Amino acid sequence: MDFRFSAEDEAFRHELRGWLAKNLPPDHRKPDFTVEFFADEEGEEWERRVAWHRRMHSGGWVAIHWPKEHGGRAASLTQQVIYHEELARAGAPQMVNAQGIALVGPTLMHWGTEEQRRRYLPKMLAAGEIWCQGYSEPGSGSDLASLKTTAVEDGDDFIVNGQKVWTSDAHHADMCFLLVRSDPDAPKHKGITYLLVDMHSPGISVRPLVQLTGDRGFNEVFFEDVRVPKANIVGGKNNGWLVALTSLMYERRARDMKPLVEDLARVAKSLTRNGKSAWDDARVRQRLAEFRAEAEAVRLMELRQLTARLKGRPPGPESSIPKLTYSELNVRLNKFAMELLGPYAQIEYRADHALDGGRWLYRMLAARGLTIAAGTSEIQKNIIGERMLGLPKG
Ligand SMILES: Cc1cc2nc3c(=O)[nH]c(=O)nc-3n(C[C@H](O)[C@H](O)[C@H](O)COP(=O)(O)OP(=O)(O)OC[C@H]3O[C@@H](n4cnc5c(N)ncnc54)[C@H](O)[C@@H]3O)c2cc1C
Repeated sequence: MDFRFSAEDEAFRHELRGWLAKNLPPDHRKPDFTVEFFADEEGEEWERRVAWHRRMHSGGWVAIHWPKEHGGRAASLTQQVIYHEELARAGAPQMVNAQGIALVGPTLMHWGTEEQRRRYLPKMLAAGEIWCQGYSEPGSGSDLASLKTTAVEDGDDFIVNGQKVWTSDAHHADMCFLLVRSDPDAPKHKGITYLLVDMHSPGISVRPLVQLTGDRGFNEVFFEDVRVPKANIVGGKNNGWLVALTSLMYERRARDMKPLVEDLARVAKSLTRNGKSAWDDARVRQRLAEFRAEAEAVRLMELRQLTARLKGRPPGPESSIPKLTYSELNVRLNKFAMELLGPYAQIEYRADHALDGGRWLYRMLAARGLTIAAGTSEIQKNIIGERMLGLPKG
């Protein structure tokens, strides 16, 4: 693959950079993605993110990879890479509705009916409806196909009973894409249905879970005799496993780690160790140089796995490689930040006297979660070993 950007791509970068310079208020700029991904963000902070999302939407900068007929820009994969680079560079806050735009939207375009696309996509894009992902259950995470939440037919509806867990944003959500067991007698992968569920339906209760960081970003969700119209099936009854895999593969993406490495270099320059700047220590500079090289390698791996998609193929097992490498790099990088900060590392997020507002400790605590969400590191290694390298099943 040729890693240089074309003149057209550079023009795209210029347009976005100009738009961000004009439209991103300085007090909205955030140093990195991790903090916001996990932060509780009730009230004002959440509203600020919704407002930023809508501003991006008004500029045509939400879901740029979606086809134009559905409100996107039909941006090429290269432009999507540029898009994420520029948002990270500008310190743009996370938009809301990631689960909708990245996962359900493309899934509906592939598997949904015309009626479903018309009903859900415009609101998804404008953050008029927030989505959450109801896959994991207690006892069914890595082995997702063993899920037990039931859906029993009753006329034109299903009656859903069961429990989901770790459901990010369920406390904000209006809609959920839910996996249910619709045929208990079929082999486990063949008895699952993918449903679109109104989170305001009677019988749904959401209970927040407190994370290591102290935030409440994800939840337990309970379903008690919840009525879901059969019109909300996506991709056919008992075909949900195949539909769910489409969403999962779109979920395994790497983040650009370079801004985080650069931020850490800034910290090293500002800290004093043994009477000198930490940056003057050759070992510190070497570690940072290694991280910088690894971050670049992650970026190139992401570009490489996009090659298959440029050729028109849906994402496949190769999306596990950048996901695994970036999330593990993120852990090591934040551990090193703890070493560098020394006693400062213990001061909590947003506490008085915390260096950088305690972001580094927060990032460290949050980093493990990224090695678990969207499939754990062990599962990614299994996928790479078995499906790419042809190793025998463990
Ligand atoms: C921040 C965050 C957000 C999340 N958001 C959502 C969400 O919005 N919706 C949703 O549905 N889920 C969500 N999840 C859940 C996530 O998908 C699961 O946590 C994940 O799939 C792992 O499942 P589990 O927690 O049940 O762990 P388990 O599957 O019980 O795994 C426990 C340990 O065993 C290892 N293990 C399991 N099987 C194997 C194997 N075959 N080979 C080797 N090792 C194995 C795992 O790697 C792990 O270390 C989120 C998780 C996190 C951390």
